[in-house]
Amino acid sequence: MGESILMKQSADTYACIFCGQRIAPGPLDPCALHLVGKIDRPRNEQKEQTFYCHADCLQVRAAIHPANFYIASPDFSSVGECDAAEQSVPADALRRP
Ligand SMILES: [Zn+2]
Repeated sequence: MGESILMKQSADTYACIFCGQRIAPGPLDPCALHLVGKIDRPRNEQKEQTFYCHADCLQVRAAIHPANFYIASPDFSSVGECDAAEQSVPADALRRP
């Protein structure tokens, strides 16, 4: 997986690709944008790079309405919460008919 050397200055200091400012920790910040190039091609032909940004900078620049960023909702589950929910579901419930 690629790493953006230009935008990640150290382990705990990130610079936003939109405004260039440092990204202080917040409810959602710092955010990483994981870019997958050639998404329409087979996985072994794709290229990946990670960028960093403020959630607000991404939302205001996107062509979609900010309400579409469900991730900004306090009720949106973290990866850990999703994993815990999957592990609490019996294996039989995950099988498709
Ligand atoms: Zn920013």
